[in-house]
Parts: sequence; C-alpha cells; structure tokens
Amino acid sequence: MSQAKENIVMFPFMAQGHIIPFLALALQLEQTKNYTITFVNTSLNIKKLRSSLPADSSIRLVEIPFNSSDYGLPPHTENTDSIPYHLVPNLFHASLALKPSFKKLIADLVKEQNGHPPLCIITGIFFGWCAEIAHQFGAFHAIFFGGGGFGFACYYSLWLNLPHRDINSDEFTLPDFPEVGAIHVTQLADHLREANGSDPFSVFLQRVLPEWSNADGILLNTVEELDKLGLMYFRREICRPIWPIGPVLLSKRSQDQIGITSELCKNWLNTKPVNSVLYISFGSQNTISASQMMELAMALEASGKNFIWVVRPPIGFDINLEFRAKDWFPEGFEERIKDSKRGLLVHKWAPQLEILSHKSVSAFLSHCGWNSVLESLSYGVPLIGWPMAAEQFYNVKLLEEKIGVCVEVARGKICEVSHEDIVKKIELVMNGTDKGVEMRKKACGAKDMIKDAVKCEKDLKGSSVRAMDEFLNAALA
Ligand code: UDP
Repeated sequence: MSQAKENIVMFPFMAQGHIIPFLALALQLEQTKNYTITFVNTSLNIKKLRSSLPADSSIRLVEIPFNSSDYGLPPHTENTDSIPYHLVPNLFHASLALKPSFKKLIADLVKEQNGHPPLCIITGIFFGWCAEIAHQFGAFHAIFFGGGGFGFACYYSLWLNLPHRDINSDEFTLPDFPEVGAIHVTQLADHLREANGSDPFSVFLQRVLPEWSNADGILLNTVEELDKLGLMYFRREICRPIWPIGPVLLSKRSQDQIGITSELCKNWLNTKPVNSVLYISFGSQNTISASQMMELAMALEASGKNFIWVVRPPIGFDINLEFRAKDWFPEGFEERIKDSKRGLLVHKWAPQLEILSHKSVSAFLSHCGWNSVLESLSYGVPLIGWPMAAEQFYNVKLLEEKIGVCVEVARGKICEVSHEDIVKKIELVMNGTDKGVEMRKKACGAKDMIKDAVKCEKDLKGSSVRAMDEFLNAALA
C-alpha cells in the first residue's frame, strides 16, 4: 500500500505580487510528486487562481471567510490590486483578523487527516502570526518571500528603525545594515518617506515584521551566490534558518494577459541582429508619467536602437484604456517606428521570458521588480534600472553597486528625466563601451551562477536545490 503524501499548506498575503510567487512555489513543490498542496486565500483570490492553475494540477484551493465591508473596504475587494492605495492599510489590518478562521481551517484539515497535521505551513511575509497556530497543531512553519534578500533586508531595516534619517540630511545609513552604504531620500518609496512610526503603514509593519522570528525558517526567492549580503543580514538579525531557494518563477503566463503573441514577438526579434534590441517594461503594476513617456520615446528615436516597449497607459490614465499612442507619444512617433521597423510597441503585456531569452536582446530597461531581475539575469541580460516603488530602489543598488550588472537611469514615477540622459545610459550599455562590455560579462557570470544554483544531478546539487532539501528535511524532522 502506498503511503499518503504529506500535505503542505500555503497562505500568501492578498496581493498579486505575493500570490504569484506562492503559486510558482506551489507548482514547483507539486512537481516533486511527494506532497499534496493546500493553497489558502480569500474567496475572490481563490476564484482568480482557479483559472490560472494548469488543467492537470491537483493543488487544492481552499477559501478562508472574509468580508471586505467589515474593514471599511469597498465590497468584494480582497487584493491590493483592486483597492485604492490609501485603503491598503485597511487590508493589512483586516488580514490580522483572519487568525481565528485560519486556526479553524487548520483544525478542520487535521481532523480530515485523522489527526495528522500538515507537514508544513508556509505563509506570507505579513503572516508571521501563523507560527503560533502551526505549532499548536504540531506543524512546521516557514515564511516565504518572493523577492530578493538585499532589497527586502533594506526595506525590513528601514521599517524597524524609524525615524531613519536626520531631517537635515538627504543621505543616511541603516544602523543594523551598514554594509549597504549611503541611502538617499529619493530612494525611499512614498509611504516610507512619509512614515513617522504612528502612520498606519508603520504601525502594521512594526507589528508584523518582528514576528518573522517566530517562524521555524524563512524561504527567499533568491540565489545564495548572488545575494550574500542580504542573506547575511537576515541570518544575523533573525537568527532563524534562511533558505535561498530561487529562482522560483512561473514558466508561462496565462494567455489572456498577452498583448502580443509569442510567435509575433519571436518573428520580429528573428529579423534583428544579435545583441541589438533594448527591451523596456515596468512590470505588471507600475507605469511612468506622461512627460517621462515623451522623454523615453524621444530617447528611443534619438538612440537609433531597436526596441520592444511594453506600454501601459501613463499615470492618471485608466489602465483599461485602449492604446492611445497619439496622446502618449511625440507626434508621428508610432508611424516613424513602424516605417523604420526599429521598434515594437506592445500594449500592456508581452511574453517577457520569450523576449529575454532571445539572442537579439541586448539590455533590459526595467523597474527592477525582483522577478524581472531574476528573469533578466537568468538569460545574462544587463539592466538599465528605473526603480519605482517599494524595495526596487535597493534591488537597483544591489545590481549596480554590488553585482555590476545595471546602471540606474531614473528614480520614481514623477522624477524629471531628460531624453539626453536616457540616450547616454542606453549607449553606455549597448554601444560596446568598456563599462557596457563589463556589465554584459558580469550578467553572463550571474546567469552561470543561477544555472549552477538549480543544478540537480546525482552527485552535484546547486545551492538552491540544497536549500530546498534542507528546508524539507527540517520540516520532516
Ligand atoms: N511580465 C510579463 N509581461 C509584461 C510585464 C510583466 O510577463 O509585459 C511578468 C514578468 O515576466 C515578471 C512579472 O510579470 O515575471 C513582473 O514581476 P516583477 O517582480 O518584475 O514586478 P511587479 O510586476 O511585481 O512590479
């Protein structure tokens, strides 16, 4: 008789940026065929997940009761992507109220398994409180973060060490992470710049982040060899096992999000010389201002480079708006680009992995969200960084100052940026300058490190594979 598989319960915070890496990890664990996976979230998020799960997946989706109106949120809003920014703290505080329901959900699962607890409960970064529940039922508890070590270490330290700066100075260092060096005020996301310890973001984060210490370990979507400083910070501050298991990435995206087919993209790229195309995308949520968009378009024309640009409506425009090139770009831009066959403008969503893996792509102008960073480095593509929010500013710092695979071109969604400056950065990276050549070499080095980290041969396991083994063994012990 075959033995029943161990169950792993996964429970991310209700935000797309948190749910997607959890889904990628769930699919990776499912692939080992050693575990059953129970994926927990609120009803609307579970409904969305149901449509993005592969047809042959046996991941069990379980709803936890939640009524957004109880927390001053508009009806049927259960995800940061569907609530106005100023109401995000309401969702934070609502998430704390899920404790009794989560306890009941685990109790029911244990009953269903004849008293056998799940092997492990993996929760999101704001759900450290789940450790207590996991331990009550005799289950192992781990926190999983879909971002990188260095970037989040800076973010973690900033929230726990408020006020972080002397009001008279534009630069400051992190008291518990001096290895980072100087941070400039322009590298603070809006809510961090405004944080004073008693605002709703500070109150929530200062409560939940220290709860990481209650977990049995922390899983990070990063690679040991690339992210040593960030991992060192967490090992020093949290005194819990830290397992870098990355890259944990979704291999393909659901078709309905695609603004252009992979086939069309590939055909277009096939017509371009090796290492000649600049890929531009600001991820799944961010966009730039109308005036920044004008400058970027002017820079692309002036640079004479081939490019693929994933265009999302500029700030202030409805995201669901049709493609209004005439309003967003310099006069005649779209026609000139089409005639010269130099550029491909893609509406909202492109098959990013297809693009980055193509030999014609030379550089990636990116907001440096962590998934984009891992994807770019997995294919040895150097970056031109334009961070916009959260820990993206420190991702760029890591890439530029510590790894040497990036140059920053601008900061934030409203900063002034000139097309001349953008052209200079594009040329620096793409024109075979010493710096550009060095960056490409280092990006190829990073690609090799990532490849080695996920190597899984009989006698040779990479660091990420070993970290995953260690985590699963610790859970089993
Ligand atoms: N992405 C994509 N096509 C796009 C824009 C984004 O496939 O046009 C994917 C990208 O490959 C990455 C994710 O969306 O996996 C974006 O995640 P990231 O962490 O880079 O940024 P976020 O969207 O969370 O800000």
